[in-house]
Amino acid sequence: MSNLNELYQEVILDHNKNPRYFKKLENYNRKIEARNPLCGDQYTIYLLIEDGKIKNIGFEGVGCAISKASSSLMTSSVVNQSIEFSKNLFNKMHLIFTGKSNSINEDELGSLFALSGVSEFPARVKCASLSWHALNGVLSEIHETVTTE
Ligand code: ZN
Repeated sequence: MSNLNELYQEVILDHNKNPRYFKKLENYNRKIEARNPLCGDQYTIYLLIEDGKIKNIGFEGVGCAISKASSSLMTSSVVNQSIEFSKNLFNKMHLIFTGKSNSINEDELGSLFALSGVSEFPARVKCASLSWHALNGVLSEIHETVTTE
C-alpha cells in the first residue's frame, strides 16, 4: 500500500511542479473564478465549450500544491470530453473527496485516484475540490438544446 501512496504523491508533486493547461486561453466562452479563502487558493478557469464538448480549457492563478495539482488533473481529464462525461466525473470526484471512494473503480479514474488521500484531511478537501466545483458550476449553467424528431 505504501508504494501506491508514494506513486500517488508523485502524481501530485508532478502536477504541482508542471501543471497541465496552466495558461489563460485566448479563445474561450466561459470563465469562472475559483476561490478558497481558507487556504488562499485562487484560480481563474477558462473554457471553450462548443457542441456539448469542452474543446479547450486553461487555468491561471496561485494556490497550494494540492489545489494546483488538482486543477491540473481536472483540466487534463475533461479537455476534449463531453459536458455529460465531465459532470459524471465531477460526481465521482465528489465521492472521492468525501471519503466514499470505495464505491468507485480505481482503474476507471487512473491518476485522479491520487487525490483520494485528501479525504482524510478535511482542511485539504476544499483545496482539492475547488476547481472541480468551479467546473461543475460552469457546466450546470449550460442547458443544451435538446431536439427530438
Ligand atoms: Zn489550498
